[in-house]
Amino acid sequence: MAAKLLDGEALAGKIKEGLRKEIEELKGKGITPSLAAVQVGENSASRVYIRNQRRATEEMGIDYQLHELPDTTSEEELLQFIEKLNKDPAVSGVILQMPVPGQINARKVQMSISPSKDVEGMNPVNMGMLVYGQAKVAPCTARGAMELLRSSEVELKGKEVTVVGHSEIVGKPITLMLLESLMESPTPTVCHIATKDLAAHTKKADILIVAVGKAGLIKGDMIKEGAIVIDIGINRVPVLDEKGNPVLNEKGKPKRKTVGDVVFEEAVQKASYISPVPGGVGPLTTAMLLKNTVECAKAQI
Ligand code: NAP
Repeated sequence: MAAKLLDGEALAGKIKEGLRKEIEELKGKGITPSLAAVQVGENSASRVYIRNQRRATEEMGIDYQLHELPDTTSEEELLQFIEKLNKDPAVSGVILQMPVPGQINARKVQMSISPSKDVEGMNPVNMGMLVYGQAKVAPCTARGAMELLRSSEVELKGKEVTVVGHSEIVGKPITLMLLESLMESPTPTVCHIATKDLAAHTKKADILIVAVGKAGLIKGDMIKEGAIVIDIGINRVPVLDEKGNPVLNEKGKPKRKTVGDVVFEEAVQKASYISPVPGGVGPLTTAMLLKNTVECAKAQI
């Protein structure tokens, strides 16, 4: 069987179309959604995120403000800065760019973002609302993975789901989202580093969701025939030629490519649906950041 691809780009495009209309309506009421990003110190990885966030928000008509603080900023100073944004009526959502310098406890600062401006869904209040199945905002990647899964239109009720990885931003919220609907929920199993026999759990899964960050972790023989596979992992690996030698780029450095945690070429032969990397969950993470920003703007009316 060759699996159907779950196209994240196409789905993200549709979601953004819907959001554009909501943003127009908000603007009609005099409200322009705005996202305030806070970066502490210099970091090349977060510069890429910032560029992408700016482009994604501005394309949608969401205001984007970047606040760059020096890398000597103390935790207390950052908490005070966040408090200022929490109180600023012109700011709908706040995002703290990662990583932050060592003197700052990132989790503590993320938790200080007001629940009504928490576009990453990391505040304990919003995490708690996930338990009640009533979250207005939720961690972007988890929400994006669920959107992609639902786009297969396969009924979830009665299915066995295995989630590999139990981080607070991906694996745990996905598991709570799977349990959202009392009568329509599947049966989730959550695997992590201490799981003894990972393959035993992945092989029984009608739906397999993987969020670990280890290329090649899930091989074809670990997947049930006809399963839906959602691969969230992002890994940069060297490109190899037929003999297994690294391919070099024009600068003589090893060429690299982005892959997920699932061996795609093997999985595509077993699964009924599969999300590719790149082009699967990634575009939906951005779309969900926009959706959360719009939700926050609406909550402040
Ligand atoms: P994380 O915080 O490092 O969590 C990884 C999880 O995998 C942990 O729960 C860990 O368990 C578990 N794990 C590690 N080795 C394992 C193994 N051999 N078997 C089973 N579980 C194992 O990472 P994350 O933030 O959740 O991200 C996971 C992956 O998703 C990364 O590749 C990341 O780049 C990617 N990601 C993608 C997007 C996107 O937009 N597509 C967004 C966010 C993240 P323990 O905690 O018990 O060690």
